[in-house]
Amino acid sequence: MNISVIGAGYVGLVTAAGLAHNGHNVVCIDIDRYKVNTINRGVSPIFEAGLDDLLHNLVSDAGHLRATTEYNELLDTVLTFICVGTPSNSDGSIDLGYIRDSAKRIGKALESKKNYHIVATRSTIIPGTTKDVIIPLLEKYSKRKVGKDIGIAYNPEFLQEGKAVQAFFSPDRIIIGESDKRAGDLLVKVYKDIVAPVFRTDITTAEMIKYASNAFLATKISFINEIANICQKLGADVYDVVKGLSFDYRIGDKFLSAGIGFGGSCLPKDLRALVYASANRLDYPTALLKAVLDVNEAQALKLVEIAEQKLGDLDGRKITVLGLAFKPDTDDVRDAPAIRIIRVLLEKGAVVKAYDPEAMENAKNVLPKEVRYCKSVKNAISGSECVLIVTEWDEFRDENIYRNKIVIDGRRALEPRKAKVVCDYQGVCW
Ligand code: NAD
Repeated sequence: MNISVIGAGYVGLVTAAGLAHNGHNVVCIDIDRYKVNTINRGVSPIFEAGLDDLLHNLVSDAGHLRATTEYNELLDTVLTFICVGTPSNSDGSIDLGYIRDSAKRIGKALESKKNYHIVATRSTIIPGTTKDVIIPLLEKYSKRKVGKDIGIAYNPEFLQEGKAVQAFFSPDRIIIGESDKRAGDLLVKVYKDIVAPVFRTDITTAEMIKYASNAFLATKISFINEIANICQKLGADVYDVVKGLSFDYRIGDKFLSAGIGFGGSCLPKDLRALVYASANRLDYPTALLKAVLDVNEAQALKLVEIAEQKLGDLDGRKITVLGLAFKPDTDDVRDAPAIRIIRVLLEKGAVVKAYDPEAMENAKNVLPKEVRYCKSVKNAISGSECVLIVTEWDEFRDENIYRNKIVIDGRRALEPRKAKVVCDYQGVCW
């Protein structure tokens, strides 16, 4: 099948590469010329395990995948996936600017198409967006009718960065929200080589499934962090508490790692958007989901509080931050706890050295200039008065590199009993 994918970021590029690998001919359409050129050289513009190898083969050898900035190239395809970003506005609401722009441009391109075309969104969009924003823009600019000339679907992406390629080929489920049976049937055909339960429903329900999923995962993390903070005061070990809990098949042990909380490009912004939309559009001020965000906000800054307890005033103190990405195996620093922690450290006058194996270039774009970036963990730790472990990259897990240092661990990267033998070790909530 000929397929176009709008937006070649984490979701769009992985979707495009996965579909091309499964035999479809895919064209990525992105407004970013640098990304387009990089993809056309068979190189991934983002760091994602396995993606470079996949792209190299698809672009160079098989020619199943290419990229362009031209929307008109979607005319040769039967299906267009929208995978553009949906960031937060400063008030927490969802910024639909990229969605609006891409819907307009798809609409304009479709004006000259005679055959039926399907538009399926994979971006995370607040429930109601397809109905209230995407469909009206497509109809206005294409001068064609949804349900007759254009089929609409919502097909959320559930990938975890760092494991995105693997998640594409082996997803837990495929959710298809459809405007009509014809659109849904075509999507089922697109994914025919992927073994996963397929659940078909209406579009608004599918949009809500994505938000409910992220809200639940975020709730699990804030729940266990609250339990961990209580455990710490009692002298109980939250990691053993989770082991004890996990024998209950209704609870399990997934997404219950206590630490400095969640970050990244999805959970914080999606939760903020849901809380905002519920309160402002539906007149339903959420109590639980707001608390999930509040617990998460406070948790990362506990690392700074502990540093102050250990060192006193942080003005002029040399502090090392290990890990900038929001989690290991990605270079993504969007809403990463490290960014917030470093900003607060700098406000307090600390001299901050930082190291991350993949995310330093991205961090440089968002952090103040005073941060000193180091070439290695060893370099970053040397001369430091206090080390904060913020992301659990494997190379930070060797206790011996922290000999005689003050170490505050935000991710249980170290085994506390072993670490306490070689350094002044403190976990954030254990
Ligand atoms: P991203 O920022 O990595 O990629 C978005 C891409 O869209 C960029 O390459 C940008 O240049 C391009 N773009 C913006 N406007 C465009 C336009 N009008 N036309 C063509 N291209 C345009 O974003 P992402 O992380 O891939 O996320 C995309 C969506 O998927 C978001 O809604 C996000 O919430 C959702 N999502 C992300 C993840 C994740 O882990 N990253 C997981 C599930 C869902």
